[in-house]
Amino acid sequence: MRVAQLGSGTPEIAVVAGVHGDEPCGVRAVERLLDERPTVERPVKLIVANEEALERRVRFVDEDLNRAFPGDPDAKTHEGQLAHRLVEELDGCLTFSMHSTQSHGEPFAIVNGVSETAKAVVPKLPVTAMVETSNFAEGRLFSEIDTIEVECGLQGSETAAQNADRLTRAFLTAVDALPGDTIRSDLPVYRLTDVIRKQDADTYEVFVDNFAEVEAGDPFAAADGDTQVADEPFYPILMSPNGYRDVFGYAAEKLDVLTAPPAAD
Ligand SMILES: [Zn+2]
Repeated sequence: MRVAQLGSGTPEIAVVAGVHGDEPCGVRAVERLLDERPTVERPVKLIVANEEALERRVRFVDEDLNRAFPGDPDAKTHEGQLAHRLVEELDGCLTFSMHSTQSHGEPFAIVNGVSETAKAVVPKLPVTAMVETSNFAEGRLFSEIDTIEVECGLQGSETAAQNADRLTRAFLTAVDALPGDTIRSDLPVYRLTDVIRKQDADTYEVFVDNFAEVEAGDPFAAADGDTQVADEPFYPILMSPNGYRDVFGYAAEKLDVLTAPPAAD
């Protein structure tokens, strides 16, 4: 784990990259901040989490770090120990953690609850949605640390790396660590309600677009040609044919749209 800091004093803000070793976009954003060393108005902790997995270009070494929290100093796995060290480093910090997916190119935010902090910060980020995943928080970083996760785009893409950079700067501006203004936009909010499992098969297909409502009766995915049909309407989120080993993704409900206040003249 690499830990660095911008500014002096005890940080209450942290930016975390590389929770997953096969998602390099956030690492680029952190390295750029370390190269440029912008003058900050509040100290910021910068962390590259799973360096071993990043070096091997794998999601994890022993187990998924974002299912291993709170971790344990005596854990038998690399990620179990790393989770514990990461929680110690991030104690007291509002944390911004960057990910990328195989399911959706547009950036969106993932939070453990629609808290006042989430409502204040997330609409100021260049994201198209906020997804609340409190039903599936177990083992994730935000079960231990106040965290805003962002999905920056498609895994390994140049666009995801550029998005990670823009998202990080918008986050640091929104929390008054960097100077300047952020643009606030209307933001739909979703809550994950169900896991969409997939059976063991050779080929997987997904027929729907993430964040676009699926109607009851619509076919939405297939495993070896065996089609799954929606019993009731839902919004697919993090859905992809091969992104995860045993699930296609998640079903969500739409909760709300956070509207931007009218712009001042
Ligand atoms: Zn990830």
